[in-house]
Formats: sequence, structure tokens, C-alpha cells
Amino acid sequence: MKFPTRAIHVPGIRHEGHIAPSIHLSTTFEHGPANEKLADYEYVRYGNANINELEARLASLEGGVEAITYASGMATITALFGSLPSGSEILIHRDCYFDTRILAEDVLKDRGISHRVVDLADRDQLEQALSPATALIWFETPSNPRIDVLDIEAIAELAHANGAKVGVDGTFASPAAQQPLSLGADYVMHSMTKYMGGHSDVLGGALVFRDDTELAAKLRTQRSLTGAVLSPFNAWLIGRGLMTLECRVEKHSENALVLARMLDSHPAVERCNYPFLESSPGYATARKQMRLGGGMLSIELAGGRDAALRVASRMRLFVNATSLGGVESLVEHRASIEGEHSNAPDNLLRLSVGLEHKDDLLADLSAALG
Ligand SMILES: *Cc1c(COP(=O)(O)O)cnc(C)c1O
Repeated sequence: MKFPTRAIHVPGIRHEGHIAPSIHLSTTFEHGPANEKLADYEYVRYGNANINELEARLASLEGGVEAITYASGMATITALFGSLPSGSEILIHRDCYFDTRILAEDVLKDRGISHRVVDLADRDQLEQALSPATALIWFETPSNPRIDVLDIEAIAELAHANGAKVGVDGTFASPAAQQPLSLGADYVMHSMTKYMGGHSDVLGGALVFRDDTELAAKLRTQRSLTGAVLSPFNAWLIGRGLMTLECRVEKHSENALVLARMLDSHPAVERCNYPFLESSPGYATARKQMRLGGGMLSIELAGGRDAALRVASRMRLFVNATSLGGVESLVEHRASIEGEHSNAPDNLLRLSVGLEHKDDLLADLSAALG
């Protein structure tokens, strides 16, 4: 079955005549006096129907053997990185979600897991950085906030030849636009807070496994113990979001491409970063591995930081707020948000292009650029 059909119908899941799934809020389930099993579940931290249904839907959408959900995207990354043996090293692409870098610097170091920041678009740099200690190569594609597009197939080939695994943070693309597991990635991670939820009202994360059932079993047990589980209500909301994911991402992508073309030729814009822009360095790779360009783009203003802040303050439809992937358009000066840890250019604005009409978005941007 095709993607939108799999987004709506999960194999083996029926709701006893209900068309919409129910939300199961019970934290505990009846058992016999000697713990004889009477119900499908025991205690919510160990499992719940809404969480199971969401995980089955995610595995099906990403073409993986299994999916595990978490309370947030960061809890997901923490679980995967934290599963590596002490003494191992993670290679992280230089442009990435800043909290991922801070997590590696501040938390994982103390557990004996080191990391190195490299430019994964540069094959020589990657080859030089690989060592017997390299356990995992981690990157976003497209990346935050420079929208670098990295060749998943090429990186996976090099990684596997060196005995390392590959994890892709696919949050910006979503599975509607890109399927990293089919390109050789071992794990794909999502902040479901973004496009999957799709309405800026739910926090969650997921990790989908291509074939590593051993790690999946280990992480599932660890999640029950460490407790970073998704709430049943959030699982229900995200499942509801996934049913319309493809339609939304198609429209986000259509709007973003129109805006990217205008911005790319605007005199106030030094550079526009969008995967499906012919002038973008990642264009050929994006065309090869993405079905849609997605709704995320960034611009670097010719007038520097002041110009970026001026443009952001003049926008009316685009709201200044962090996060992305909702129906409403958002703008953000990443250097201001990320503070001292930032390596975002200070003339850069990141745009999450929403589902408003493209003419209104174009008018808002044109007026703000002056
Ligand atoms: C938001 C985000 C995260 C973190 O996810 P949370 O759900 O906020 O914990 C990780 N990676 C990327 C690319 C993100 O945009």
C-alpha cells in the first residue's frame, strides 16, 4: 500500500467498530492475584494501546522493523546516544539542532561517550574522522538552520564499511518527503512535535529501526525503566496528525518553493537555502533522495544581523517563535535563540512555511524585506 493509505490504515489495528481510536487514559490494568495476565497491558510505563498503535504506524510509514516513541525528540536522541558503550565516539554534522550538540558536550561526555563535529558534506573530512571508535554518525538532512542536504546513501556506505551505524534526524523532511532507512540509514529519528503532530500543540519523539532489533529490544526495556514515555493523549494526537501528514507536507513544500524562488532573487537576500532551489549546493542530492522539498528554508540577509532583526520585526503573518512544522508560518533569528552555543550565521533567519495562502505569505515577506 502507498504512503497515505498506510498513514490512515495500520495493519492489524481495529477499534471495535469505532472509526476514530479511543484515548486510553488508564494507568493500570487488572491482573490475577499471582499476576496472572487478564488484560493486554499492565502499567502505562510498560505499554499502552495508543502508544502501540502509533509505533506500528510509524514503523510502517518509515519502512522499519520497529519504532519506539518517547516523551520528546530530545529524550529520543538521549536514549540512542546513551546506548553507546563508554569509549565510543559519535560524529555529528556541523550544522545541527543546537540542543543535540549541547547534549553531546554537557551530558554524554560524563558517560565516556565523546563526539566530534565534522562537515559531513565533505567526503575527505568524513574519511579522516572515521576511526575504530566511531560508533555512530549522526546528522539532520535537511539540517537546522542552514538546510544542508547530506547524501544519506553515500554516508551510510562509508559508515558501514568502517563498522559504524548511521542515525538520521529526519524531522525537517518528515517521512512524507524522505525515507532514510530505504537509503541505508540504520535509524531515523523524529521530533514528532514538528510536522508529525503538525499543529504546534504536542511534544513527542520517535526512533525507527531498519533492522537492528537487538538495539530496539534494549531501548524498549530501558525506556520502561527510565520512564521517558509518551503520554497516551499525545500518542493519540500525533497519530491523528500522521493521517494528514502527506497532504500537509505537499502544501508546505509548494508554498516554500514559491517563497524560496522569490527570496533567492531578492536584492536584500544574500543567500536562500532550500533543498529544491536549483542554485542550492544540495540540489542534486535533494532531488535524488527527497520526494518533496519540505516547508523549511532559511535566508541570509545582505545587511547582516541588523537587517535580519529588522525583517523579522516587520513580518506580520510570520510570527517570531521557535519550533516548526505547524500550520502557521513562523520566523526565527536562530543566533538570538541559540545564544552562546550558536554557530548560526547572525544574518540568518529560519522560516517554517505554513499552510496559509502563498500570495499572503509572499506579500508579508516582500513588505518586510522592503
Ligand atoms: C525540535 C527538534 C529536536 C528536538 O525535539 P523536541 O521534540 O523539541 O525534544 C531535534 N531535532 C530537530 C531537527 C528539531 O527540530
